[in-house]
Amino acid sequence: MLETGKTFERIQPVVMKRLQQAFEKERLAHAYLFEGPAGAGKREISGFFAKLLLCENPVQNVPCETCRSCRLYESGNHPGISTIKPDGQFIKIDQIRELIAMMSKTGFTSGRKIYIIEEADRMNQSSANALLKFLEEPGQDVTAILLTERLHSIMSTIRSRCQLISFQPLSREVLLENLKGSGMALSLAATVSMLTQSAEQAALLAEDEQFLQQRKTVLKLVTAVAADIHEALLMVQSDWLPLFKEKEDAERGLDMLLFAYRDIASAKAGLETVYTYPDMEETWKQMALQRSYTALSDQLQAILQAKQQLPRNMNRTLLMEQLMLNLQEG
Ligand SMILES: [Zn+2]
Repeated sequence: MLETGKTFERIQPVVMKRLQQAFEKERLAHAYLFEGPAGAGKREISGFFAKLLLCENPVQNVPCETCRSCRLYESGNHPGISTIKPDGQFIKIDQIRELIAMMSKTGFTSGRKIYIIEEADRMNQSSANALLKFLEEPGQDVTAILLTERLHSIMSTIRSRCQLISFQPLSREVLLENLKGSGMALSLAATVSMLTQSAEQAALLAEDEQFLQQRKTVLKLVTAVAADIHEALLMVQSDWLPLFKEKEDAERGLDMLLFAYRDIASAKAGLETVYTYPDMEETWKQMALQRSYTALSDQLQAILQAKQQLPRNMNRTLLMEQLMLNLQEG
């Protein structure tokens, strides 16, 4: 999904500029620590950077894609790159030892060597200590790239030996563009990009049967409550409660409901925005005509209030029924 240098420049402009400038000026650090939320492109950009560092003919700070090194990279077994990730719960000391042995080998492959440690926060104490020594004396032409979503769990001694590169969460706009680029339908991409900032999670949601069912139910409920409160109350029992049983689902359900009313408010205000449910555009426009700003504002408020009550373990049935009554028209 996230492949070319251009895509990376769009999703992480600051990170890309820093890395490409360091490369251009030959001011490379021995070790980098990429930190930031899931789905922000850390793994993809670590791959890009490794490929760039090893490329034989880089053009304008982008790998050439045609040299021997670039082709080896694409084949997935470049001898100059080692990647490790947790084996079970932790990154074990043997993994680190093996990695160091690989990086210390000479003559095997000439030139730079790169190692990437995914989920670096999952090194246990002994692994981290073993790595620490190597970070202090990495030897010639060895570059480390550590990745983490939990910067606070990285030992401060490790952190202080790495150049910190912070990744921002993807903006909705960028995420939406990428999801569409990967072939996801706009209606679905528009919804999932409201619920997560991670391209990975967005893709998972879009393939989740239960989520697709939840989406349908939210839209059905919005139209039901506008037309007939009794039908809406029945739907809460028969459709909503069984589908949104888990707390996490219940929360997401209310968010999805909130976004529907936000869509209607955007339609009323004539905002040029990508709806959460673009497939409902015509319905939203009609609904927007039928209600006042005050009514819409009360409805949004009612959903927010229900969201606040959710963690207090209030009876879920009661909470949803009360919400339906608050959302009904007139
Ligand atoms: Zn190349």
